[in-house]
Amino acid sequence: MAVKGLTRRKNVSEVLLERKLIPEDKLKEAEAQARKHGVALQQAVLDLGLLAKGPLLKCLSEEWQVKAVDLHLMEVDHEVAKIIPEAVARRHLAIPFAKEESTLFVAMADPLDFFVSEDIQLRTGLEIQAYLALPQDILGGLDAAYGRGGGEVVNKLIADVVQKQKDRDSGAEIPDATGSFEVQKEEQKTDITEVDASAPEVEKIVNAIILGALTMKASDIHIEPFEDPTGKGSKILLRYRVDGQLLPGPFQVPWGYRHAIAAKLKIMTNSMNITERRVPQSGRIQILAQGNPIEFRVEMVPTVYGESCVMRILDRKSVQVDIMKMGFMQDTLDKFLGLLKGIGGKKNFGLILVCGPTGSGKSTTLYAALNHVNRPDIKILTAENPVEYNLDGIVQVPVNPDLKLGEGKKFDFATALRSFLRLDPDVIMVGEIRDEETAHIAMEAAMTGHLVFSTIHTNDAPSAISRLTDMGLPAFMVATTIKAVLAQRLSRRLCEACKVTHDPTPAEIKVFEENKVALPAGTKLYGPPDGGGCDKCKGLGYKGRVGLHELLVMSDTMRLSALKDVAADPLRSQAVGEGMRLIVQDGLEKVKMGLTTVREVLGGTE
Ligand SMILES: [Zn+2]
Repeated sequence: MAVKGLTRRKNVSEVLLERKLIPEDKLKEAEAQARKHGVALQQAVLDLGLLAKGPLLKCLSEEWQVKAVDLHLMEVDHEVAKIIPEAVARRHLAIPFAKEESTLFVAMADPLDFFVSEDIQLRTGLEIQAYLALPQDILGGLDAAYGRGGGEVVNKLIADVVQKQKDRDSGAEIPDATGSFEVQKEEQKTDITEVDASAPEVEKIVNAIILGALTMKASDIHIEPFEDPTGKGSKILLRYRVDGQLLPGPFQVPWGYRHAIAAKLKIMTNSMNITERRVPQSGRIQILAQGNPIEFRVEMVPTVYGESCVMRILDRKSVQVDIMKMGFMQDTLDKFLGLLKGIGGKKNFGLILVCGPTGSGKSTTLYAALNHVNRPDIKILTAENPVEYNLDGIVQVPVNPDLKLGEGKKFDFATALRSFLRLDPDVIMVGEIRDEETAHIAMEAAMTGHLVFSTIHTNDAPSAISRLTDMGLPAFMVATTIKAVLAQRLSRRLCEACKVTHDPTPAEIKVFEENKVALPAGTKLYGPPDGGGCDKCKGLGYKGRVGLHELLVMSDTMRLSALKDVAADPLRSQAVGEGMRLIVQDGLEKVKMGLTTVREVLGGTE
């Protein structure tokens, strides 16, 4: 223990003053700041830029005759750091950073505080070797050791960036919820002052962007540069997709940071080329937020104004994979569940396709279906790009069609499917059918006793059948292997807390008539309240989404027609004749149930 004799030790202020490292007036300023923000004087001195960290640590270390460590530069072993309870560590501003036999090396803000050392010694039974470190570095080390990415840190980060924003451009309009932006009155950063990606400010902004998305429960983050030829209105649009709608982010990103942010995100993927700004790139970022691992798929696309970035959040915990809770109408659900009966022993086989636009929840439906049929005696294999959610008991294989493995080798859906067939599964899920080769193998698998699930990019169910023949697959193969096609789309769901009823308007009545959906006299419809919603829906009037479905089940007569004529229109008419509810009709039924509105159903939420 470094108790230094009987002379009273000098405090930080006295040391700095005596050594003439900081003028007295500046020191007073630092002391005032330290009191105001409740931080140590050392921190205030650093924050005000009065002294660099190196000289500061050095003089205190000399004066107090105790070794100093710069925690920022070293890798702290998290297991060692956790030897003392977190609350104790934070109270004492101390972090154990190494252990050798019976000695614990502890970095402390005040290494001469005998009681701190004694307390830690009593708790651990180890000899304590105290080192000097800066309080902020100690707290940062504790954050890292305990996986604190969120909570107060989140709020502080966002508050920090927002405050800086306000300081810079007081007078700028706050973007409204319709997604339109007011042009900033003044551009505080010019393109000339480009910012290095390693600057801490960039890290702060990137973190705030990500954390902002998590707090808003966004599914995607869009970061897009827009250059104004006059230079005044150039800006980076930061928007979050929440329940299908693009909303402005909580702060504006300074224009000068556009390259630095793109570079930082690329660095975080560990796979993208930082210097390449002309071709699209994709990658993944994994972060820890409040102890939860969260993964992002990152797409970087060059635009005329610079690189535009879209990040899709792959939150492995938040997936709703219960088929009963997917918002199917009861009759559609019964039909769909009927398709999933009797799996195993090669009794249930064929191809089940889910189609719909991007972001319509196709993979969630597939996961729900797989979850429903998942039993220990059924072998399920999936090939996905990427694996978005982990399912227990299912072998999920990530494939990457764009990855070149050399000598013409690649690991795409077709390759994965071929290897699956050697493993003899009962159920196979292929992420997407987007080429003839994959379609061909999927159908072969379906014909040889496997139940195969996949998605295809068409807007309605009958079109999926014609799309496959367009790809070059023989009509007989398409007609015989397909069991069913489920088309789906998502509409915004009315907020339960604030939705209000109204009598159907003439325009609404017309929509029901045109789509042949009965609207009995006296039926009330629901809509968002005039002038926006409530707190629960953040004033939007809508909260969450509801699935609209169109399920085409291949009957024998449908198969015969598909053999002769695979145009979508006649197939659709026949399917409707056999009782298929069109996706718009399904939507209008949900309008009658008060789940959504006519406008949502007609508009779609692509
Ligand atoms: Zn509401």
